[in-house]
Amino acid sequence: MSNFAFPPSRLANPPLLELRGVVKTYVSEAGEFTALKGIDLDIYPGEFLGIIGKSGAGKSTLLNMITGVDHLTQGEVIARVGHEPVSVHTLSENDLALWRGRSMGIVYQSFQLLPMLTLLENVMLPMDLCGLYHPRESRRRALELLEMVEIAEHAEKLPAFISGGQQQRVAIARALANDPPVIVADEPTGSLDSVTADHIFEVFERLVANGKTIIMVTHEMALMPRFSRHLLIADGEIIPNLTPNPAPAVASRKN
Ligand code: ADP
Repeated sequence: MSNFAFPPSRLANPPLLELRGVVKTYVSEAGEFTALKGIDLDIYPGEFLGIIGKSGAGKSTLLNMITGVDHLTQGEVIARVGHEPVSVHTLSENDLALWRGRSMGIVYQSFQLLPMLTLLENVMLPMDLCGLYHPRESRRRALELLEMVEIAEHAEKLPAFISGGQQQRVAIARALANDPPVIVADEPTGSLDSVTADHIFEVFERLVANGKTIIMVTHEMALMPRFSRHLLIADGEIIPNLTPNPAPAVASRKN
């Protein structure tokens, strides 16, 4: 039985992402280290899911399993993001890159904008790589996305000439470039001051209100109440949730 309250869309929709018995063991010269010890997790459309845990708990590893950025050792990740369900880790490298490009936008703590490209070009790049938009349209769309995150006036600048908070806004715009249903964010506010972090959080809240599903990992327990659901992770395991998630009205109705 689940420890968690029903997320808003649970009764209406199947999970967007299903993790079944996900194990990740890193093998290095120092030996083997199991960073994820059999994670079972369902993520539903429209959730703003917070995965909270201390440094080293396995949060980034978990995100890398969800996005297919890294290989899993055991288990399965099933995604219902496109037309057909996909077992993410069975895709070839090419198919995986294409699938990820269209399905997920990824936001990192360190922004990871390309320093030699303008902000506009940084946002256009995933569109040009994925080929979903005509180059003329990708420029227009990139500008719209920069407007949405309130940074369009700096569109022609290089990343080095704007602040960290502004760079993170651009990174969010870039993550939205191919209009993916899912945004995955790895400590996106971790290197920002609290006011700037709050503004970034508000951008995420707006995106969820507009239908995106967001999975965010953080070590900041204080953020817990701001997610629509949160999980605690420690030593590669999801631990029982002692703080109840808010139960939406729809979940309390008996069928
Ligand atoms: P978090 O994101 O919660 O800080 P990580 O997922 O980055 O944690 O790491 C979980 C554990 O796996 C840590 O103990 C880390 O040292 C270990 N780890 C992460 N990446 C590797 C790797 N490539 N090789 C070996 N161990 C790793």
